[in-house]
Amino acid sequence: MATRNQPSYRPPQRYQSRHLPFGDRRDAPFYGKHILSVKQFSRDDLTYIFEVAHEMREMVLRVGSFDLLKGKILANLFYEPSTRTASSFIAAMQRLGGSVIPIHEVRYSSVTKGESLPDTVRTLEAYADVIVLRHPQKGSAELAARYARKPIINAGDGTGEHPTQALLDLFTIREELGQVDGLTITLLGDLKYGRTVHSLARLLSMYRVELHYVSPPQLRMPREIMEEVAQAGIPQHEHTYLDEVLPITDVLYVTRVQKERFSDPAVYEQVKDFYVITPEVMARAKDRMILMHPFPRVYEISEEVDADPRAAYFRQMEYGLYVRMALLAMVLGKA
Ligand code: ASP
Repeated sequence: MATRNQPSYRPPQRYQSRHLPFGDRRDAPFYGKHILSVKQFSRDDLTYIFEVAHEMREMVLRVGSFDLLKGKILANLFYEPSTRTASSFIAAMQRLGGSVIPIHEVRYSSVTKGESLPDTVRTLEAYADVIVLRHPQKGSAELAARYARKPIINAGDGTGEHPTQALLDLFTIREELGQVDGLTITLLGDLKYGRTVHSLARLLSMYRVELHYVSPPQLRMPREIMEEVAQAGIPQHEHTYLDEVLPITDVLYVTRVQKERFSDPAVYEQVKDFYVITPEVMARAKDRMILMHPFPRVYEISEEVDADPRAAYFRQMEYGLYVRMALLAMVLGKA
């Protein structure tokens, strides 16, 4: 007999547990896992991800595309604008032989009718094997993951984190400078609202680095992140002026002032062009250093700097493709 708490109906067995398609390696690290925050990685995990990313790079350079994820489907669910993250996930999936459901204009989806994030996620996982989610609310990826049986990859949750960007940033540093340990790394710009620097500072705290934070006083790195980094024993220094630290910097990571996060437009106007990297600024930097930026850039790096071989931001975008190929292959049990 059915009672209030014990309904007699049971869905057919085949719908109750995770579907493990033939050929998936269940023992593969990260198989079926969500990627929500850089806090979930150990240094060994990072080494492994970068090895796989490196192999992806070799394969793309050699054969372009291959069928590792043939038959797999990615749902790309973006509630905020994106150029690089959205298109590199699509390219990553397609270069691995998989396909994509692109939902980049949520206003044309049922979100406009008031559908909640958990319902949208549970809908998409009925069709796809993995969901990439970008959302304006901090914590949204974790919320989605609470409801999802398929892996959720956080592609930016408001001012929270952007873990796949931080992984590609670190991969860029490794590939360009050979190692991360021993480097002096300067994060500059909007450290308060910039989610990429939140993830990157946390990830870098797993290495033996010295961190410098250069920002206007209104846009300092959140205390909570500085405390986490301090617990890892990493020296951190705050500055308002870049010149104090530029001559000793090995990696200068510049960020955009995040206009969309300001409640008072007057405050944005005060800080929006506080720093501009020009060839004159680069002349005071080390010969062997790299200039990075997650893009889009607005005012912070002048286009004349693009020809400088130390400007690594366009190469950084390409490294992102390989890291995202590695992550997709890993969560889908093929790496
Ligand atoms: N594209 C990066 C992000 O989504 C950086 C930025 O928007 O400034 O966080």
